[in-house]
Amino acid sequence: MGAPPIRHGAALIDAEGRITAVGPDAEVPSPPGVPRTDWTRAVLLPGLVNTHTHLELTGFAGQAEETDFSAWIRRIRALKAERTPADFLAAARAGLAQCHAAGVTTVADTGDSGAVIEVLAEAGGSGIAYHEVFGPHPDQWRESLAGLEARVEELKRFVSARVRLGVSPHAPYTVSAELYVAVARYAAREGFPVAVHLAESEAESAFLSDASGAFADAWTARGIPLPPLPGRSPVAWLDAHGALGERTLAIHVVQAGQGDVARLVKTRTAVAHCPGSNRRHGHGNAPLAAFLEAGLRVGVGTDSVASVGTLDLLAEARAARALAGLTAEAALALATRDAARALGLEREVGTLAPGRWGDVTAIAIPDAETPDSAMERALASAPGDVLETILGGRTVYRR
Ligand SMILES: [Zn+2]
Repeated sequence: MGAPPIRHGAALIDAEGRITAVGPDAEVPSPPGVPRTDWTRAVLLPGLVNTHTHLELTGFAGQAEETDFSAWIRRIRALKAERTPADFLAAARAGLAQCHAAGVTTVADTGDSGAVIEVLAEAGGSGIAYHEVFGPHPDQWRESLAGLEARVEELKRFVSARVRLGVSPHAPYTVSAELYVAVARYAAREGFPVAVHLAESEAESAFLSDASGAFADAWTARGIPLPPLPGRSPVAWLDAHGALGERTLAIHVVQAGQGDVARLVKTRTAVAHCPGSNRRHGHGNAPLAAFLEAGLRVGVGTDSVASVGTLDLLAEARAARALAGLTAEAALALATRDAARALGLEREVGTLAPGRWGDVTAIAIPDAETPDSAMERALASAPGDVLETILGGRTVYRR
């Protein structure tokens, strides 16, 4: 990505798991004793980067069919309440295996079980685990923040060069203004990346702009005071509470106008674009072309299997292409180079270049004649076309 495709290309990965050379096979050193794998009729891509998963929800595909978004959220909550910590670990393991089988080597995952960061650590995986925090009542924020800090301290033991910890104040309809401010300060102090579900549904917009709609009704019924600072869009509202910024990943961002895009640019906030999930829940299409035109950092994400059924990141890249009229290369970049940039990991993953981690996905392309058609074929591939997935020089999946 970012350079022309190489015919008969090769990459050399060192014992530390970093790429040391990329180029035409004849020019890449082949030191004695270094195992060598040859693929024919395949394209090698950087390991794919999924900017939004909930791997602890693996196994819930087809179990939450509600069309109404609030009802769907309630269903997920009920399904999660039945799971034990061991269930969440098993789900996270299965989810990570699905990612590897689909060519994904790095995930940006949100959840509140703590299972995903543990599984990333045990599997030698790569990613950011954003630990979720909830708390809609303004009087709850100290307790919620203390709970988050305590959990984060426990989870720090799983952090490594490839496994990072972040925080995620879940969404404006589950988190009070006070809690956003407190979590944003905490994240800044600790240097944590932040992920927020933002501007996803029309109900969220109505909730923040004039305190109406399903979320407002639910809060009122529970005796929770409605959010302050009405009259704002979700993006403007979150900005007013200090939660946007260079280390913030805004997930979905469907309900956004020009002023919101300008605000995301100004604050250097990145976007996780999840077209399949947005469509599944009837939220509409995110203004992806406007994001890209404005120079926002954007990557594609699948969201959870409870929303989209399967973790097929290239399907999301194809949907993004259709939405914004992209070239095959630009669409693939949203699942590799640009996704890495959105997560602040562009010096680590997302491209095949010396110094990057040796994360490689080999995808079968039986009959591509030219580099351009190889790109097209790679983008059109299904998870079943992935021949091998290599993470830091180690095979984590082979067909
Ligand atoms: Zn999500």
